[in-house]
Amino acid sequence: MSRYDSSCIFCKIAAGHIPASVVYRNDHVLAFRDLNPVAPTHVLIIPIEHIPSLSNLAAGDEEVAGQILMAARTVAGMTGVLDSGYRLVFNNGPDALQSVGHIHAHLIGGKSMGWPPFAGHEVIHG
Ligand code: AMP
Ligand code: ZN
Repeated sequence: MSRYDSSCIFCKIAAGHIPASVVYRNDHVLAFRDLNPVAPTHVLIIPIEHIPSLSNLAAGDEEVAGQILMAARTVAGMTGVLDSGYRLVFNNGPDALQSVGHIHAHLIGGKSMGWPPFAGHEVIHG
């Protein structure tokens, strides 16, 4: 398998070494339910191969990047939020509180949400 990190929890889930509630899978991506859901629908969509964050996407990753978005649309349909609405969130880096270093899109839906998405702890840099 290309780009596998044996210390990465999401690589282990993609390899089937750690169980997860899988919603959808194809050759490029895996979608599974978040362990600590923040909404009735909360699914994580990850590339099968280890890419630490959006900032690490490089030339050649166009296919997998597009696959994440296409899987999000599929998962939205499967979980019944296609028409009611949903949010796709990529936490990227420390300011965004990314806690797992393997790209994941949070697909969140099944409730109405607020905007902007800050939790009230923001610190303005500068
Ligand atoms: P982030 O803070 O954007 O990096 O999100 C990481 C997400 O992964 C959190 O919402 C966690 O609840 C979720 N998570 C961590 N470990 C697991 C796991 N083993 N199975 C499912 N979700 C997980
Ligand atoms: Zn990984």
